[in-house]
Order: sequence, then structure tokens, then C-alpha cells
Amino acid sequence: MKQYETVIGLEVHVELATKTKIFCGCSTEFGGAPNTHTCPVCTGMPGSLPVLNKKVVEFAIKAGLAANCHIHQYCKFDRKNYFYPDNPQNYQISQLYLPICYDGAVEIETSAGKKTVRIHEMHMEEDAGKLIHDEWEDCSLVDYNRSGVPLIEIVSEPDMRSSEEVIAYLEKLRCTMQYLGVSDCKLQEGSMRADVNLSVREVGSETFGTRTEMKNLNSFKAIARAIEGERERQIELLEEGRAVVQETRRWDDNKESSHAMRSKEDAKDYRYFPDPDLPPIHISDAWIEELRTSIPELREAKMERYQKEYELPAYDAGILTESRHLAGLFEETAVLLGNPKKVANWFMVEVLRLTKDKGLDPEKVSFTPKHLADLLSMVEKKEVSAQNAKKVFEKVFDEDIDPVVYIEENGLKIVEDTGLLTETVKKIVDENPGPLAELLGGKDKVMGFFVGQLMRELKGKANPDSVRKALAEEIERRR
Ligand code: ADP
Ligand code: ZN
Ligand code: MG
Repeated sequence: MKQYETVIGLEVHVELATKTKIFCGCSTEFGGAPNTHTCPVCTGMPGSLPVLNKKVVEFAIKAGLAANCHIHQYCKFDRKNYFYPDNPQNYQISQLYLPICYDGAVEIETSAGKKTVRIHEMHMEEDAGKLIHDEWEDCSLVDYNRSGVPLIEIVSEPDMRSSEEVIAYLEKLRCTMQYLGVSDCKLQEGSMRADVNLSVREVGSETFGTRTEMKNLNSFKAIARAIEGERERQIELLEEGRAVVQETRRWDDNKESSHAMRSKEDAKDYRYFPDPDLPPIHISDAWIEELRTSIPELREAKMERYQKEYELPAYDAGILTESRHLAGLFEETAVLLGNPKKVANWFMVEVLRLTKDKGLDPEKVSFTPKHLADLLSMVEKKEVSAQNAKKVFEKVFDEDIDPVVYIEENGLKIVEDTGLLTETVKKIVDENPGPLAELLGGKDKVMGFFVGQLMRELKGKANPDSVRKALAEEIERRR
């Protein structure tokens, strides 16, 4: 059989995390009761007029700058005309001729190394409503809460060659958007959606084959399966001497197969024209510069700095920077304690374990960095045992308690050289004449028994070294 190469370009829709919609003041919040976040504008009532939300432009520019795009400083909105019940105006306000961002590039990394994926453009547009097909009532219902939620559509060049590269690209986009705070990019909630354009060609061929576009991909796993499935389907057609038809296909992840939805439409089919209700946007140099300087340190830069400044291994630096929010907690704690390595270990083990065990979104982890720093400082000073520190940290993680107060109040503080230790040693030795006799008779192993008894009695409040020392002294006295 001939050798084939897969060629993939993505169209990624990202919902912007503005409080209100792109052309009206309705809330963008996910999950409200149907049709409660609506008004005449986002339900397409006659006579209503759109007013652009400036925050959308700001977020789009930031996203573009982070992906090394150029900005069209004079840009416009265009109407994309089509009828569908989730689109009450009968057109979508989008951008065709002058997309806000264009000609960018992002770097991705796979097992094969680093590679650049070019960005053709990023344009602003409004989301459509949602159709809910009710099988029981045998009808379809429409919810316009999502209608008018701002989107940017990120169109890549056909630069990807495998599902691994596609996933790396999507992860890169998601991480960048989250770092910028412009979107939470949740695939399950639909705030990030990817359409996969795919064609195959014989290895060595200079021209691209005919592509299909796949929709309805709700997870990275579904995307990987859809890519494998579509590649095989196209190769089979070509091997049989048949042609790939340019069309839009819907992936069914349960059946692990796709079916044709519609033949591919062209821009001209939509009768695009400049939206007459919205004036063009002028973006000043000053505003772009202001936004450029507001871009936070992104993940790659952070990873590099952690390795250099904190001397952390690349693996740890990678994990610690996956979420900007967790990275922030880590850095604050590290500064307070002055021991980044110790804090990094605690994050790699305890923080990530609790986050995973509790099924928590990393963005929702919220404890005061000073609380963890105080706790770790007590461990360093041997004022609390490592074992108890883990238990106390769970309280910090769950309820953000003050560990210093908690350790004091719950008697978990290691008490050194106080009467308590010597008294307890005396008491335990007195209460166990049998084992004492054995020990004095030369059975050294019995020491372990006494240490165990003492640690239990002192509930981890004593440093094991001090316990052993005090015990040995007491035994000497009894000889
Ligand atoms: P249209 O104008 O029909 O939307 P575009 O040329 O804008 O098509 O491309 C849409 C998406 O399809 C882009 O992400 C692009 O990278 C990708 N694409 C274009 N041609 C191919 C091809 N032959 N194989 C795979 N992907 C392609
Ligand atoms: Zn509205
Ligand atoms: Mg196009």
C-alpha cells in the first residue's frame, strides 16, 4: 500500500470570559434556566440594535498578541447570513474581510520535538443559541442564553500532521487563554470547541488533497479518535480509486464513526456584507501597547524561570505551571518560606494529590499561601511531625484554617524538654514491669515497644529522637 500523510488545520472557537454578551448587557453565565439571560438584542427582535462590548475587543487583541499575530487596527464586523432556529436574527455577526488578528504562530512540543503552527487569523463573532431535542415530547426547544456570547474563532494553517500535534496545539491554546484570563476553555461546557479539517496525501506529494471538516468533538480523546477514523476513511476511498468529497461531517463518538452533514459551503453562499448597525473599530497604537504590557508571564517563560531561579527539574516546572492559578499560589508560598524546593515538593505531592482526590478544578484551589508557609516552617523547626503536618494541611486545603492556631489548640505541637516527656516516660515504664524486666535482662528489641507506647501516648507531639533519648536515660536509671 502507498504511504499517506495526514494534513490537518483547525478552526477553534473560544468563548470569551466577559461578564456580559458581545452586543448587549445580558449575562454570559453558563447554566442559567433556559431563556433567562436574554433581551431584544440577543433574541433578534426587530428594531433592536447591537452595541459592541469593549472588553471583547480587548480580550481578542490580548489573545492575538499572545499568539504573535498582527492586529488589524481598522477592523469591521460582517453579517454571515443563514437560517437556523438557534440563530434568531437569520444572520450571525462575524468578521470576514478584516479579522481583528491575523498571521500569527504558536510553538508546540510533541515527542518529536518543537514545531510551529501558523495562525491564519482570529476573528470575533457571536455565539448562537442552543437547540434541545426532546425525544419524549417529540419536539425541539430552543434556549437563547448562549445567543450573543462572545467568541473568537482561531483558524490555523494546515500545519498539523497527527493527532498528537493537534492535541499539543489545543493544549497550548487552552493554556495560553487561561493564563491570559480571556477564557476558561472547558471542552465539556463548550467554551472551547474545535472543528477538524483533514485531508490525506501521498507522502512526498506537494499538493494537498481534498479535505473534510468534522464537527461535534467534545473531548481531546474524541478528537484523537475522529482523526484516526477520518484518516482511514479517506485512505480507503483513495485506495478504491474514489474521490474524497469536500463536506462537513458529524463525528459520533459512541459509534466511533462520522456521517456527512452537508456539502461544504463557501463564503459566497453566506452573502457576507459589512454590518450596517456597527461602526468600524479603530484600535490605537497606544491601546495595543497597553495590552501588550498587561500580558502576564506565560507558561514557557515561567517554566524556564522555575528551572533557573528555583533549580527545579523541568518535569516539576512543567507540572507546577499547568495552571496559572496554582503557579501563583506556589510562588507566593515559596517567597514566604524562602525554600522553593520544599514548597515545590509539597505542591507536587500534597496539593496535587488533594486536588485530584477531591476531583477539584485546580482553579478552585484556594488557601492562603501564608498558612502553608507557616506550616512548612513549623515542620522545618521540628515543631510538628511530618505526619501531623499532612493532616493539618488537609484542613488548610479544605477550610483554610490557620495552622499555627490549629496545631496549638489540638495539642499537636511537639513539646521539647518539658516535664510532660519525662513524666510520660516514667509512667509508661512503671505501667509495664514485664517488658522492663525483659529489657533489663538484655532484650534490646523491647525498646521499640516502649517507643511505640510513648508515641501513642504523646499522639505524635514528641520528636522521636527526644523520646528515644529520654527513654534510654530512664532505663539507665532503673538498672
Ligand atoms: P474555508 O474558506 O472554506 O473556510 P479555509 O481555507 O479558510 O477554508 O480553511 C479552513 C480550515 O481548513 C483552516 O484551518 C485550514 O488550515 C484548513 N484546511 C484548508 N485546506 C486544507 C486541506 N487541504 N487539508 C486539511 N486542512 C485544510
Ligand atoms: Zn441580550
Ligand atoms: Mg475560511
